[in-house]
Amino acid sequence: MTFEALKELDSQYVIQTYGRNPIAIDHGQGATLYDLDGKEYIDFSSGIGVLSVGTAHPKWVAAVAEQAGKLAHISNLYYTQPYIQLAEKLCTRSGMAAAFFGNSGAEGNEGVIKLARKYSFDQYGEGRGTVITLNNSFHGRTITTLAATGQDVFHQYFFPFTEGFRRAQPTLDSVQEVAGHDVCAVLVELVQGEGGVYPLERQFVRELAQLCRERDWLLLVDEVQTGVGRTGSLFCFQQYGVQPDACSFAKGIAGGLPMGGFLVNEKCRNVLGPGAHGSTFGGNPVCAAAALAVLDILDDETISQVKEKGDYLRGQIEAMGLPCLGKTRGMGLMIGIDVAQGYSNKELYARLNQAGLLCLTAGSGLRLLPPLTITRAEMDKGLAILNRTLTG
Ligand SMILES: *Cc1c(COP(=O)(O)O)cnc(C)c1O
Repeated sequence: MTFEALKELDSQYVIQTYGRNPIAIDHGQGATLYDLDGKEYIDFSSGIGVLSVGTAHPKWVAAVAEQAGKLAHISNLYYTQPYIQLAEKLCTRSGMAAAFFGNSGAEGNEGVIKLARKYSFDQYGEGRGTVITLNNSFHGRTITTLAATGQDVFHQYFFPFTEGFRRAQPTLDSVQEVAGHDVCAVLVELVQGEGGVYPLERQFVRELAQLCRERDWLLLVDEVQTGVGRTGSLFCFQQYGVQPDACSFAKGIAGGLPMGGFLVNEKCRNVLGPGAHGSTFGGNPVCAAAALAVLDILDDETISQVKEKGDYLRGQIEAMGLPCLGKTRGMGLMIGIDVAQGYSNKELYARLNQAGLLCLTAGSGLRLLPPLTITRAEMDKGLAILNRTLTG
């Protein structure tokens, strides 16, 4: 089928919720992808942080194929080996105590919000269900996670939203100002992703963790984008020197298959008991086998290279001195680039994609989330496209 024919069918039969690039990706290997006509693209987007080990990694493909040929699904009415091994690996490598598996980031965040409200209900009874979230945050597209999201543009049309969210600036003063006796938790992204790749101040995060301990609020960290090695450690909180009560994950966990969920600490392991929470596809054997392969590929050595790769990309981009771009920021391979006054990030993004470099926008800038396994040669190819396309 030609691209034009596909596009026509999409517009006729698919609800038009996405502003798509006029590109139909067909296949690839690592961070190198090809469209239907065989044109090559370098992937600096990972399908929005999902392709943590790139496309068609041989170990990932073998694990998925093997599990698909054995057992694709059986429900959580039975034990299966992959999700149990995955929970063990995630807990061992993060210092958390237990895992819950669902399908998406929003579902992971819904889970930690339910966890916090149930914890608080068990300890203190009703009236303590408010969760503080931060300005400029993004937590998902369900009615509840939209309510948790700290950006007004997401609070339209779908009224009534879930109540019980209050917004603060990322400062301790601001959090204390909005705090009341009705608060049970604080939910934060340590590096705000969709909001523009803004890392929170270390001092603020440490003080926030302390405040949470003092008030018995749960510290909930949304690691949907920052998790699974993206920022240079398995979870971002490991670099901030705090241990959350719960953290959600999704995007990169299963390397391209849908999986999300959350981890909890010892204090919260029994908050959600039988019947309190669930998900039909949660812990699905094929997705869990994929995630096990991802964690196997992303060993300590591979994750330790993430910071160097990020520094290399940022250094090279800043050294280009392109008039349309400003400073870079971020952690590891989660990179934000300011767009200079007079230029539109959407327009630069469209030009780069068209020129063969898949990248993203975030806030008013550009955002890069390459596969964590990207090679030096692929990075250099991508950088050359960026330089060539944005010069002049
Ligand atoms: C992408 C994202 C989500 C939503 O994940 P979905 O899988 O689309 O539900 C939530 N939080 C953060 C920080 C994200 O980046």
